[in-house]
Amino acid sequence: MTQAKQPIIQIRNVSKRFGKVTAVDNISLDILAGEFFVLLGPSGCGKTTLLRMIAGFEMPTEGQIFIDGQDMSLVPPNKRPVNMVFQSYAVFPHMNVTDNVGYGLRIAGVSKGEIRDRVAEALELVKLGGFEDRMPDQMSGGQRQRVALARSLVMRPKVLLLDEPLSALDAKLRAQMQFELADLQDKVGITFVTVTHDQDEALSMASRVAVINKGEVAQLAPPADLYEYPANRFVADFVGSVNIFEGKLTLDEPDKAAVDCPGLGKIYLNHGVTGPHGADVWVALRPEKIYLHVPGEGKAVRAAAQDAPDGHNLARGTIKGMSYLGDITLYEIQLDGGQMIRVSRPNLSRHDQEDFTWDDKVSMHWRADSPVVLLS
Ligand code: ATP
Repeated sequence: MTQAKQPIIQIRNVSKRFGKVTAVDNISLDILAGEFFVLLGPSGCGKTTLLRMIAGFEMPTEGQIFIDGQDMSLVPPNKRPVNMVFQSYAVFPHMNVTDNVGYGLRIAGVSKGEIRDRVAEALELVKLGGFEDRMPDQMSGGQRQRVALARSLVMRPKVLLLDEPLSALDAKLRAQMQFELADLQDKVGITFVTVTHDQDEALSMASRVAVINKGEVAQLAPPADLYEYPANRFVADFVGSVNIFEGKLTLDEPDKAAVDCPGLGKIYLNHGVTGPHGADVWVALRPEKIYLHVPGEGKAVRAAAQDAPDGHNLARGTIKGMSYLGDITLYEIQLDGGQMIRVSRPNLSRHDQEDFTWDDKVSMHWRADSPVVLLS
């Protein structure tokens, strides 16, 4: 679909204070109709408070929230075109699946025939066809979670708000439900707004993610942009694993922007950087963007030389720690300059790459488009 999406939720200069605590600090952002929007951040950053203000369970201390163009300031939760799925995905324990899912429609006075059809449709969507007569205690956590989802979907809200929807599930089920939720959202086309502190969840499900830090938006971007081009140190650190080095920006040679890092040398860049020559900056380098070699191997030097002048973007060090994680191995390497660097490497066939172990001397290189400069 190429049609431009319109904002369905507009948050304008919204703050929320609880006594002396500022939970949400002057946030403005748009959530687009039909997108899967994720609010991501550490515990206490204010993401749940923002979600609860969209739902109408909390009122902003300042600012306004518009849903579908309408100011929500005086609109109570039950009159908003939104529906919330709670963290605990509470379902009524004494009702079977059909009655649980049809509950909201019964309260709304919808006819029996329509309830039957809409419950059947909602159960199909969450892949619970055939479970109509089951009681909640006869179901797994993942199945109960789907009942809670169906109960919200059946109301056909314009916006579905989900508060940590997968946090009660075990790791495997969570990974599966991440796919299913994204797939479901795509099918029904309802706007989903989810809160999570789990970066994998955010990256795998979202069309766009707002990373929240101390009540403010640290960055708002699609998942790949967040990961590849973090806007600041907080986002670089919070989303994924990263090496961060301090250095000074050197722009004295045209086309040779670099960051001079004590103990590491110059990290050359082949992309634009904004910032004055000599500025104190950080360089973020993802562990999987660093290639590991037997020291002095000509191929490595040639590869690095392709996009970095004078064979730079090379480093040498000694393996001081490693953890085997199945698909990858993580290496902690002490550079000859003393700094520690973390490198991850996919575990390919043993014939395809060298094995490394503790205390091995290694060399590393990375491409000049990998490091990201963050202004301090
Ligand atoms: P978590 O992931 O732990 O739920 P969060 O990012 O969702 O965290 P919020 O629940 O929005 O964070 O809380 C933000 C801040 O506001 C925290 O410091 C919290 O203690 C405070 N806070 C939230 N609700 C209230 C309340 N009802 N009364 C007082 N303080 C509150």
